[in-house]
Amino acid sequence: MDLGLSSRVVIVTGAASGIGKAAALAYAKEGATLALADINLKGLEAVKKLLKGTKVYIEQVDVTKEAACKTFIANVAKKFKRIDVLVNNAGTALMGDMETFPEKVFRSHAELMMYAPVRLTQLCIPHFKKNGWGSVVNTASIFGKQPGGLLSYDTIKAADIMITKDFSSYCAPFNVNVNAVCPGPVDTPLWHEKGQLGDQLAAATGMKKDEAIDWFAKTNIPMGRYATAEEIANAIVFLSSVPAHYITGVAINVDGGMVKCTL
Ligand code: NAD
Repeated sequence: MDLGLSSRVVIVTGAASGIGKAAALAYAKEGATLALADINLKGLEAVKKLLKGTKVYIEQVDVTKEAACKTFIANVAKKFKRIDVLVNNAGTALMGDMETFPEKVFRSHAELMMYAPVRLTQLCIPHFKKNGWGSVVNTASIFGKQPGGLLSYDTIKAADIMITKDFSSYCAPFNVNVNAVCPGPVDTPLWHEKGQLGDQLAAATGMKKDEAIDWFAKTNIPMGRYATAEEIANAIVFLSSVPAHYITGVAINVDGGMVKCTL
């Protein structure tokens, strides 16, 4: 299938690692032109090195900062003269105690995973209108559909699904689709880096990190394993492709069968 992405300018946030990095590589295979944002500049530079033969612009952007987002979108538009696809992917997660979960952390997660996607979508809409075509994919989570016990994360990912649906209705008349992917657990640094979810799960269960991750997969995921970042990237790329353009307002689970509800 020709995904029709070869002439498109694609923005990916959180592109230095995990799902965002895999999405950047997958878009590059489709011949897209890339604009990659992340707070981690070294990580972005490493990704850029993997993208030989692809037109790619990288910028260190803290997406929680309004001015930085505005500058980034203006820079991309100036450099490539158009913006076709926005992938709102930058994020994080924290398992915390329900009774003491700090408001400050909750607010910072909302800045990162709720306000940033809204802001970036708003900034891209004028460019999509100019093209007469556009596509937005938000990386939500299955924990936006059913609780995972991560208070801020679950709440904000549920909001991301509604943001997706509201923008999909608003944007449809000018030929822009807006969708979300809802991954289950994915084998990325978000689980494996020091202090991240794997360590947090280990602390909560009293198991070693790898043992805890394996136990979680075997007891919660029908396919018995985490997704690879590439498996999530494939869904992101497809949703923003030309053949998928009539799909809008959906939040697709990519979760090895973990979610049981009918939506
Ligand atoms: P990751 O930690 O590998 O990548 C996240 C990226 O976001 C990092 O490169 C990080 O530097 C970047 N980032 C963090 N704060 C930022 C900021 N303020 N500005 C710009 N960039 C920032 O994690 P991942 O697993 O690839 O997660 C990507 C997305 O997928 C997140 O939104 C996450 O919530 C979501 N998700 C992950 C899983 C999972 O199990 N890994 C499951 C469901 C959804």
